[in-house]
Amino acid sequence: MKLHDKVTELKGVGPKKAEALEKLNIRTLEDLMQFFPRDYEDRRNRINIGALKEDQPAVIKGKVVLIVGDRHRYGRKQILRLLVSDDTGSCEVVFFNAKYLMSTFKKDSEYIFYGKPQMNFGKLQMIHPEFTKDEKAAEGILPVYPLTKGITQKEMREWQRSISCLYDEADEFLSEEIVERNRLCSPSYALKNIHFPKEKQKLLEAKYRLVFDELLVLQTGLFAARENIKNGENGIAFSKGAGVGEYIDSLPYPLTGAQARCVDEIIEDLESTRVMNRLVQGDVGSGKTAVAEIAMYKAVRSGYQAALMAPTEILARQHYDGLKKSFEKHGIEVGFLSGSMKASEKRETLEKIKSGVIRIAVGTHALIQPDVEFDKLGLVITDEQHRFGVGQRIRLKEKGQNPNILVMTATPIPRTLAVILYGDLDVSVIDELPPGRQAIKTKTLPPVNRDKCYDFVEKQLDEGRQAYVVTPLIEDSDVMDARSAEQVAEELKTRFKNHKTALIHGAMKQAEKDSIMADFYEGNIDVLVATVVIEVGINVPNASVIVVENAERFGLAQLHQLRGRVGRGKHKSYCFLILDGKSEIAAKRGEIMQNSSDGFYIAEEDLKLRGPGEIFGTRQHGLPDLNISDLARHLQVLDNAKREARTILTEDPELKSNENMLLRQRIVKLFGEEMSLDL
Ligand code: ADP
Ligand code: MG
Repeated sequence: MKLHDKVTELKGVGPKKAEALEKLNIRTLEDLMQFFPRDYEDRRNRINIGALKEDQPAVIKGKVVLIVGDRHRYGRKQILRLLVSDDTGSCEVVFFNAKYLMSTFKKDSEYIFYGKPQMNFGKLQMIHPEFTKDEKAAEGILPVYPLTKGITQKEMREWQRSISCLYDEADEFLSEEIVERNRLCSPSYALKNIHFPKEKQKLLEAKYRLVFDELLVLQTGLFAARENIKNGENGIAFSKGAGVGEYIDSLPYPLTGAQARCVDEIIEDLESTRVMNRLVQGDVGSGKTAVAEIAMYKAVRSGYQAALMAPTEILARQHYDGLKKSFEKHGIEVGFLSGSMKASEKRETLEKIKSGVIRIAVGTHALIQPDVEFDKLGLVITDEQHRFGVGQRIRLKEKGQNPNILVMTATPIPRTLAVILYGDLDVSVIDELPPGRQAIKTKTLPPVNRDKCYDFVEKQLDEGRQAYVVTPLIEDSDVMDARSAEQVAEELKTRFKNHKTALIHGAMKQAEKDSIMADFYEGNIDVLVATVVIEVGINVPNASVIVVENAERFGLAQLHQLRGRVGRGKHKSYCFLILDGKSEIAAKRGEIMQNSSDGFYIAEEDLKLRGPGEIFGTRQHGLPDLNISDLARHLQVLDNAKREARTILTEDPELKSNENMLLRQRIVKLFGEEMSLDL
């Protein structure tokens, strides 16, 4: 028997079984060996029959004292009933449709049964238990494999057992250092114990190794696929002498611990010759902008220019206003560039960017247009990264010579997942809000309480506050039973006679949206009825209440983002989630929102509610399918694997050495044709 043999070499596998196995992607013995259990049954504890409990799977050993082969009253199906006894009691064992078993059991012989006892007319019964006379086969922790039609658990276990002699052929593909540093067991030990663990501890060691391997292969593949690793040493190293202390001191507040840590990580990157590629992830309001400012200050003091790109005009404008004020104090000129500028103004700005008079350029996509040239661009920052494609990030990057890159996002994805989603980026997390923030009071309510809710909104408006109202639809729909933005806007215009209500939605032209947002920002609009276009970044400190209509149609992460639009000023703020219908998940989401304001916790819960597959649908992100790892659960292993991947690639960027040959093969196998790996 060899690893690359077809499964038909196995006893009991003919064309039919082979076809069924093929459905599980198992063609060779190696495929079979890499086909891991989804669960285990612990059959080590044999218990006395007298100790059986309803619904608790158990192994018993007993003597068959009575055999009754009934004819079913309604048909010709035969039922086999056994009475099984030991010293402590007896239990009925039942097999339906059991003609084939009629002569299997011998009276007064002992058998071992495994099954889940159920109560039937006051007696405990085991229905269709597994059974054997063979003490050895019944012992231990048994694997439970995912199956497909035409293959039984018993067959799968037998085949797996029959190829266990091949485990030793699994070669070690990692260096001794990596194995030792991560305390990995050997590949053959891992295989042996993932299929047939002798004890829990060994199973865990096995699983760790296999998950580690898979994630290491994934990470190495991803890293290697990116240009940045290859010419990683050609980055710009900012001057160590260019301190940022004076800038930090000029901020109106001390940095939070999380901000300071994040700044340290960035500075370290910036001073090294490796190109920085870092994602700053921080909940809404966590103060990412200040961190970006400090990085930009470092660039400018080192003799370079910096660029900050935001996804919408209003957001870019907001950043520009803030940065201009902060950098003026330090004699650093900030410029603004957007698509809607007057031509003369734009020409002047472009000139100043090119000559280097403008040290910091803030703008929209206008920044990546071909007419924009920098004098010496050393740092590129994109805000709300998830709104940009990788292509746009790269275009901005190409405005300089291997500039350092910082991307910021508030989309709360658990830390390490971001690494996968954003591929090659290092991640810094700001997991702490500035002190003194008031929690946003969040309440879910049924549609019948809508009136009361808008009464409350009106009170807030009367006090001079502003409000957001969010709906899932732009206009009425025949297919979806939800309130549309148009309908709600009409209603509220009549209702709030003394206040100005406006509608904004994603199908509008950008210029129109920008102008409405600007009006809201400046307080000319009191109530903004919107589809999710307002989800990102906008900062209107005077807005104190947000109402989400048909909140059952939004995911947790989205709801959290929406809620982040309020509570940005000194006013006590409120979030109302109107939940229509009885969906359990929606109710659960509502509950989580009411009880937590922690974006990372909410993101984790979001993952759990949706299941990692749904967001992660690896395919959607261009990642290969994983066999044993669960990106949502194996975060720590992923971290370790990532670190080792880096080490490997630093020493052997193109994986050309003999030592890395097997690793390379695995990468090619994992990624297959789906991702062009330039190895
Ligand atoms: P976001 O991470 O959502 O982009 P911002 O950078 O817009 O957050 O910051 C949100 C608000 O918090 C701003 O008004 C900013 O001035 C303030 N802020 C940032 N850092 C601190 C801090 N360390 N202490 C107090 N306020 C801070
Ligand atoms: Mg921001």
